[in-house]
Amino acid sequence: MSTRSTIARPRGDGWEGGYMHSDGYPTGVGQEIWKLVHEKFNGDGEAFLKEYLDKHPSGWSIFPDNCYCHHPDWAARADHKTRITVSSTEDKTDTPLHIEWVYIVAPGVMTILKSFPLPEPDKYAWCIVTQVEFSDVEPDWAAIEKRGEDMCHNAWEKNRPSDAA
Ligand SMILES: [Zn+2]
Repeated sequence: MSTRSTIARPRGDGWEGGYMHSDGYPTGVGQEIWKLVHEKFNGDGEAFLKEYLDKHPSGWSIFPDNCYCHHPDWAARADHKTRITVSSTEDKTDTPLHIEWVYIVAPGVMTILKSFPLPEPDKYAWCIVTQVEFSDVEPDWAAIEKRGEDMCHNAWEKNRPSDAA
């Protein structure tokens, strides 16, 4: 399913990351990041980023199996050889609408963001859903997913145009 997300690294006041095409919700990509950080990198988020963000500059079609830069089906296509960067400084009209979930990985903690609608028509931004510590027990991904969906829905309810006019 094409729920888009990004794996990001903190940068300045915000973050910058790579594009992820599929399964971007917490029970998909979120859980997968957690699993890799623990099973391959002993809880070291930065080591994870070096391997799965920096070494795959074009992003992932299906994380962590099929990237746009190395998988033969995609690597042959010149338009997928450039870095696909998603960052917190991008135009809020468009990008957060398409990149629903953001996973900001720091050495010991992951911050999870979800896009939500702003009061202005057709404008979106991201809000912080939760932070998970890599030293903690594995969180309940379905609960995080529901919390993000609820936050997004509540923002939409609050901001939608009133019927009484
Ligand atoms: Zn790659």
